Amino acid sequence: MSYTRVGVVTGANKGIGLAIVRQLALEYPKSPINNGPLLIYLTARDRGRGEAAVKDLFEDAQLKKAKALSADGGLSDIRYYSLDIADSKSISMFAAYLKQAHGGGVDFVINNAGIAMQGFDSNVVKTTLGVNYYGTLEACHALLPNIKPNGRLVNVASTVGRLNKYSDEVRDQFLSSKTEEDVTRIMQTFASAVEAGKEKEAGFPSAAYATSKAGLIGATRALALAEKAKGCSVLINSCCPGYVKTDMTRGGGNKTPDQGARTPVMLAIEDINDKTGLFWQNEEPLEW
Ligand code: NDP
Repeated sequence: MSYTRVGVVTGANKGIGLAIVRQLALEYPKSPINNGPLLIYLTARDRGRGEAAVKDLFEDAQLKKAKALSADGGLSDIRYYSLDIADSKSISMFAAYLKQAHGGGVDFVINNAGIAMQGFDSNVVKTTLGVNYYGTLEACHALLPNIKPNGRLVNVASTVGRLNKYSDEVRDQFLSSKTEEDVTRIMQTFASAVEAGKEKEAGFPSAAYATSKAGLIGATRALALAEKAKGCSVLINSCCPGYVKTDMTRGGGNKTPDQGARTPVMLAIEDINDKTGLFWQNEEPLEW
């Protein structure tokens, strides 16, 4: 089987990531980028969980009814690939595999994988920034060269990463950050301040997840600016799925995973008027 479109979703074995893969298969036939069969890589850090998720999708009643998947005569195919965004080797192996398997490039990457840990101390901050900030950005840099011109890169951040919980000085630093390095320096200052037990004095909240997502929004914006300046036509945006009922929210949330998947799917396969470097929620750009 040869595919004219190829997409990637990270952390897709459950929750919003799984719903994104499912919705991509359902919506792709109506998408303006539809020009033939689509292969979606459902990536996950655990092979057992990833393969089980693919199997479930091939047995999903709504996908069958819509004849969305190739097994039922549809346009999309779903394949598992191992990807742990906290592991540099796993990221580089996946990037090398994509280059070899899809020399013409991939059409979109949705960086959905993320963690929210209980408690707050320097270890929680280190691990949370490691996955949500550094790991996601490492995946961006490794996979971006594989994205076709006019393709899409979507980072799933959160509205808790908006800038209403920082001192004026830190907020100004975020807003004036022009490069990814500028944002990384803010993340480093936060981690050092937590280590010293002085994050409040330094103008940060005692919140690892929120700060990691603020960093991700800022770094996505900086990456989009840098790529545009280089003449790269990939559209790079971040978004919030809303407050979604998943394992992460432990039953809380007012949206279903399908509703949460809506904005990331739109940013990957619908016409977004060439918008890049923005933060989105409910299918609209939102002030950071
Ligand atoms: P879940 O906890 O249900 O799913 C998270 C997914 O990320 C799982 O598949 C998990 O894999 C994967 N993951 C975690 N760490 C890694 C890693 N190192 N490498 C690869 N995959 C990893 O969360 P949600 O579905 O709720 O969240 C999805 C995204 O949406 C996250 O980025 C989250 O921050 C964001 N978000 C969620 C909100 C909500 O209300 N739910 C609100 C705002 C943002 P495994 O099963 O192996 O742990």
